[in-house]
Amino acid sequence: MHARDAIFLEDLCPKLRVRRWRQNLHRVTNQRCIYCGKASESIDHVLPQSRGGLSVTENCVPACLACNGHKGDADAFGWYRRQSFYDPRRAMAIRAWTEGDLKLALRLLQWADPSSAAPQAQGVDHQTRQAAAPLWRWQMAA
Ligand SMILES: [Zn+2]
Repeated sequence: MHARDAIFLEDLCPKLRVRRWRQNLHRVTNQRCIYCGKASESIDHVLPQSRGGLSVTENCVPACLACNGHKGDADAFGWYRRQSFYDPRRAMAIRAWTEGDLKLALRLLQWADPSSAAPQAQGVDHQTRQAAAPLWRWQMAA
């Protein structure tokens, strides 16, 4: 399939675009939970949707189901600090992520867990909203 076709498809099908956006978030952390480092199986809203949190990159982090479910509607930073697996470098990474600096977040995550391979963070920090801009879609299609 050509990149052009992919873009056309995503225009027709917003669900596909959201799925790709979520996949790209997981790719930034190399499919790891931003809180505990286990396999990320879901996207967690740092500020819960029930409290007005938006589904944008700055508010959406890859998380395992355990962390996502356990955190519930709590404030992410307060909740995280109380966990046995709390790591201040990860907390800083989450803070950087919510400020839109995914490259810094990635560096902090790699510092916390040097065994994780270096994934590609490029592209995501240009696109902060899930309504995709052309640049975002080109990079997704590539
Ligand atoms: Zn986790």
